[in-house]
Amino acid sequence: MAKIIDGKLISKQIKDELKAEVAKLKEEGREICLAVIQVGNDPASSVYVGNKKKACEYIGIKSLAYELPEETTEKELLDIIDKLNNDNTVHGILVQLPVPEHINEEKIINAISPAKDVDGFHPASVGALSIGQKGFVSCTPAGVIQLLKRSDIDITGKDCVVIGRSNIVGKPMGMLLLRENGTVTICHSKTKNLKEICKRADILVAAIGKPKMIDAEYVKEGATVIDVGIHRMENGKLCGDVDFDSVEPVAGAITPVPGGVGPMTIAMLMNNCVEAGRNQN
Ligand code: NAD
Repeated sequence: MAKIIDGKLISKQIKDELKAEVAKLKEEGREICLAVIQVGNDPASSVYVGNKKKACEYIGIKSLAYELPEETTEKELLDIIDKLNNDNTVHGILVQLPVPEHINEEKIINAISPAKDVDGFHPASVGALSIGQKGFVSCTPAGVIQLLKRSDIDITGKDCVVIGRSNIVGKPMGMLLLRENGTVTICHSKTKNLKEICKRADILVAAIGKPKMIDAEYVKEGATVIDVGIHRMENGKLCGDVDFDSVEPVAGAITPVPGGVGPMTIAMLMNNCVEAGRNQN
């Protein structure tokens, strides 16, 4: 029987630690502020933005909501980002992705000041991570590291296999595990012998986007299995990239879906906002 890594509990601990720090900063007259920009009204984006606002409220971070119409031009959005970059009462800037097709996502990411890039998507943030300099780290992989550390799972010298090489999860995940002294292999859709590679892992991270793809045949006895995937099944329930029922009896520790990696993403976003506030004040 695997130990279940409780992301709900760990994310609550992190948010409570941040809440206490934000309260202290407020006593010193310092208020942290996050600007959240949404263009259009994609329902999934609205849910994510709503959850971010709720987390800000819980922790005591001021949130500025920019709800812009679908027809907002790229220039208008860039002008708002420029204004926020130069506003020293705003510490973090987040543009909810995806943006409508007529707006170039790359240009938007690049326009956010790296000092306020709480999503950690700016090339300067990504570059800093890869050469071990200070900078914001993408929230989901940063959350995975916290799950491991706060569950006393040592990364040093461990064989770590990440499945997925996206810019927001797989690649930064690999860099972070490397920073923690893991021996890292990154697999992707063109990887040969995926099962054999995964079966060597002490720590296996699945960020594939394929429901229940990873079953017990991919997992070494006693391995830690982190499931980043989120999918809604036909019965309305959520599942991950890992077939939990098949893997749980083999693994040493495992994250459930829901209640594993999911809640950590927002907790780490809040952590980045507090860090941005600390750095800029
Ligand atoms: P993505 O589609 O950008 O990347 C998927 C990666 O998986 C690619 O690099 C691809 O090469 C690899 N892949 C696809 N099929 C494969 C196969 N058969 N074998 C090996 N590798 C394969 O997805 P993403 O944005 O990295 O997200 C991955 C999953 O994580 C999705 O289910 C997404 O919903 C979820 N996600 C969760 C959170 C969270 O907060 N928990 C955040 C971001 C993404």
